[in-house]
Formats: sequence, C-alpha cells, structure tokens
Amino acid sequence: MITMKRIIVFNKEFEDGRRFYRQKFEAVAASVFSLIFFVFLVCCITMNPPMLSEGALKLIVDGKTVKNPILQIINSKKLPSRSPDSRRYRVILSDGKYIMSFAILYLHIKKLNLAGDFQNNSVIEILLFSTTLFNSIQRTGKLIIVIHNYALLATGCSKIGSPVPLRGYPISFIKEEGNNKPLKDTVIHPISSLNAYMNNWVVKARVVSKSLIFVQRNSRKLSINLLDSSGGIRAVAYKNVADKLYHLIELDKVYFISKCRIETSNKYYEELGNDYTIKFTPNSVIEECSDDAELVPHIQYKFVPINEIREVEGNFVDVVGVCKNASDLKKIGNHNIKRTVQLIDPSNASIDVVLFGTDAEDVDDFINPILAFKSVKRAYNGEGIYLTATCCTNYRRYIDIPEYDHFRRWFESKGSHTGVVNLSKCHVLWMTFNNIQLKPNGSYCFKVKGTVLFVETENAVYKACSKKGCNNQVSLLECGLYRCKECDVESTNFKYEYLLRVNVSDWTSNEWVHMFNSEAKKMLGISAQEVSEALEKDPKAFASIANRVHFKEYVFECRTNADVNINGVQKGTVTVAINPVDYKEYNAELLSKIEDNVSMNK
Ligand SMILES: [Zn+2]
Repeated sequence: MITMKRIIVFNKEFEDGRRFYRQKFEAVAASVFSLIFFVFLVCCITMNPPMLSEGALKLIVDGKTVKNPILQIINSKKLPSRSPDSRRYRVILSDGKYIMSFAILYLHIKKLNLAGDFQNNSVIEILLFSTTLFNSIQRTGKLIIVIHNYALLATGCSKIGSPVPLRGYPISFIKEEGNNKPLKDTVIHPISSLNAYMNNWVVKARVVSKSLIFVQRNSRKLSINLLDSSGGIRAVAYKNVADKLYHLIELDKVYFISKCRIETSNKYYEELGNDYTIKFTPNSVIEECSDDAELVPHIQYKFVPINEIREVEGNFVDVVGVCKNASDLKKIGNHNIKRTVQLIDPSNASIDVVLFGTDAEDVDDFINPILAFKSVKRAYNGEGIYLTATCCTNYRRYIDIPEYDHFRRWFESKGSHTGVVNLSKCHVLWMTFNNIQLKPNGSYCFKVKGTVLFVETENAVYKACSKKGCNNQVSLLECGLYRCKECDVESTNFKYEYLLRVNVSDWTSNEWVHMFNSEAKKMLGISAQEVSEALEKDPKAFASIANRVHFKEYVFECRTNADVNINGVQKGTVTVAINPVDYKEYNAELLSKIEDNVSMNK
C-alpha cells in the first residue's frame, strides 16, 4: 500500500516537469513565429503598398457608383466632435491620380478598434461612404465625401503617385455639353407616362411656378410645377439642392429633366391631377431647352370673379385681381414667413390671399400690382373665406399686362377708393338646416341653434402628428415610428385628436356635422387624450361620455362644403365654433324674423 502511494506521487512530479518544459517551448516558438510574421508584414507594407483605385475620386464626384475604393489619406485634421461617442476628421484623399480635399471621416468610437487608427499616408479601403452638398458662405455647392466605415490596409507608406487636385466641383446641375449625349437627343417621355417604376426617363416641360419655403430649421423646400402637353407634375427639392435649383431654374422656361426620383404624391395637395411627384437629387440632370420651347404649353387659367368664389365647386380656384393692401411680413414658426394681401376685382368684391416664403417676400402694395393665381386654396376662418397658397399654387405678379388693362383702369377710376364686399370679413348669418339644404351646392357660413341628437362613438379619436399646429393623421411604420406625410417627419410620438361626427337637429331638420379637436373638446369637456386613456380601460367608456351632451342645446357655427377628412379630400359640414345659447341674441333674431314676416304679409 505504502509503495503504491510513492509511485503515484513520483509519476505526478515527472508529469508536471514535462508539462512545464512543453509550455516554455511553445511560448518561445510562438514569439519567434510572430516576430518573423511581423517583419514579413512590415516588409510587405513598406516595400509594396496596396494599389490605389486610380480615378475613383473623379467617378465619385461625377455621381458614378464606386465600390470599396482604395485611397490614401494624405493629410488629416481632427474636427470638434459633436458627441463623445464619435470622432470626426477632415481628410485629404488621394486615389493616386487626383487629390480631393473635401472629405470628412466620421468614426464611431466603438468601431475604432475594428477599423484601426490611421496616420498620414495610410492606405484605407472605404467600406461605406456617402456624398453630400455643402453650402459655404459663397453659396457654391461643394461636394463632400463622408466616410462612415473603412478598413486600414497599410500604414507608414510614402505618398503614392503624383496626384493633382481634382477640379470639377462645385458640381453643376446643368449638364455640360459634350460630356455625354445631350438630353434633347434622347427619347422624351410625356409627363403623364411617368410612374414610380421608371428609372431612365427624360421629360421636356415648362416651369409654370416656383416657390421656396422654409419647412424646418435649415430645411428649405423648393416646389415647382412642370407642364407639358400631356399634363402637369409637381417637382420638389430639399435643403442644398433646393437652394441651388431655386437660382438655376427660371420661371416660364422649358427644361429637359432626368435622373430624379419619382414618388407617390400627397393626394390632399395634388391639384395638378398627377399621382406622382418628382424629387430632385444631387444627381439630377437639367438641361435648358432653347430650340422648340414654344411648342410646350403655357399655363392655362380659369379665372373666377372674386364675388363668385364662395359658390365654386371644389377647394381650388384661379383668381386675378389688383393687390389693394399687403400686410407686413409675419414670421410663422421659427423659419417660415407669410404675408396676407387683399385682392380686389371689378366684380366689386375683395378677398384675402395668404402667401408664404419667397412669394410673400416678393409682393407689396406699393404700386398695386396685378396678381394672378392658379390653384389657390379656399379656406375659412371665423369671419369668412380667404385664399391660401399651397405647394401647387402658381402665382404671377404683373405691373402691366394688356389682357388686364381694364382691371387697372377700373382700379384707378373706382376700385381704389370705393367700398367693396370683403368676402374675408363675412357676417355669419342665422339659418336653419332646412335653409341650407335648399341652397345650391356651395360653401356657406351660418349659425344655427341646435340640439345634439347623437354623438357617434366609433373612430372619434385618431393619432395625429405630434408637431404643434399639425393635425394630420400619422401612419405607423414597420420600424415603430409614426410618420406624418404632411410634415415629412418620422417621430416616436403622436397626440390624440378628435374627429367627431355629431347629429344635430333644429326645428326644421337635422344634419350630420363634423367637429375637430378644439370644438369637440369644448362640447364634451374632456380631451381626446383622456378619452383614449378611458377607452384603453373600457372600450365602451366613450358612450357614457357622449351621453353627457345628448339632447343639450348649443349655437353651432358651421360651414358647408369644407374638408373633413384628415387624410384626403372629403366634403361635409364642419362646426367651426360651438357656444352655449345666448338667449338674448337668439330672441332678437326671432323677433326680427317675425317683423320681416309681418311686413311681408301687409
Ligand atoms: Zn405633421
């Protein structure tokens, strides 16, 4: 027993010794091997640097697709970082043939170890990059390459080749002659044939309107309307592209346009009758047409006399008149501006027109210009109707125009100093539902003393855009964000708003009226947010809330033929104000009606 134990212990000591020497040998072998490998690697890098993608920078600037270009960093300068998780460098890149000094290398700290730290003259393979137009103070668009991810291929190299500075930026949207086949020599597509599935197309169209507005901080939106003999289409551009095109594209001129994105349009605003909108990108090609431009149609107006605007079917009208007054420029939000002008015409009526952005800046009442509007939108305030420019409104300002010479003569002899009916300052009349139902189709403002018969409880609240002042319904995207088409914004938030359908009766008839957020809240005494919370706990909770107002009396100020739907165009009667009944006022109205009847029967 004892000897057995000794043998086992001896064997163990022997084993330990063998393991010790084996480990030592392995460690030495590994370090020798890695030393040899390192020397080999250094030799490779210094003797034979990787091949650069010669000419790649020129291709990138020209908007061509370049996959994983291999470039050399000639010089770099650290830029102040916007977040602790990232580093930014301005780098000078070389492809061996050209040098480009406008590149930003953007590094996320977490990715830094993966990519490896670069030095001057390092050779990198760019795995992910984008290009962007940068507007300097001189307003020239410079193309910047932004590097998002790269792989370090070699360091400690010397400068490869003898690259020269790359010319060719600022890039131009107007295509240079001889560079490629001119657009006028290619197949021209009619505007009506454009759809979202087309890639290579060229249209030849006249610019019939052009307007630049501020939609958000530092975000400009250019909206132009294009016309050819097949129809019209709206084209938009944002930010730097918008600035650049605003100065390049001239009103009334004809252009060949290609290489833009085609997107489905927002029906609510699409008065040009096109399902699609063209979106300009930095790669879009625009070429002025000088030869047979006259064959492309000009804008066609269907002017409505101002005193008939109230009765027009639909929400958009064409109108021409003399600008009698113009308000001061007003800031709306932080970035956009508006101005209201008073337009009058020989129909002895006037109406307010609200203009935005550059249109608002351009107009004044100093010399009472003649203003012509195509597709200006009819809208309502508490007092009456007014017109408001939208993205599809065309607007022209004439000092003298032979076709409207009689406007000028009328204005100078009469219009400038006699009183006219101001449609924007209407007196809201008492009416009954029966009165309204007997009237021809049109837009009317009226007030009625009515009783709430029934509040529809289904779909009474909806998810609206969280932006202040926007009531558009948002749609839930797959990524979980809420998108507002109107603001072109995706957000994690939304707010609940009312769109209430209420059946109201007076002594003559009854009518379904719609109520938006503020009126519905005023009537029910509870916010849409609170209703949605109550509905979460009990899906039938709204019935008891609605019950509180059933058979109660209010004075409803309504307008007919107004937009109801939050997404598309749907007509209906909308309550613009709801108030408790002022019996003194209502009695006075009844007394005057009685007096009218008595005097008629005499
Ligand atoms: Zn919105």
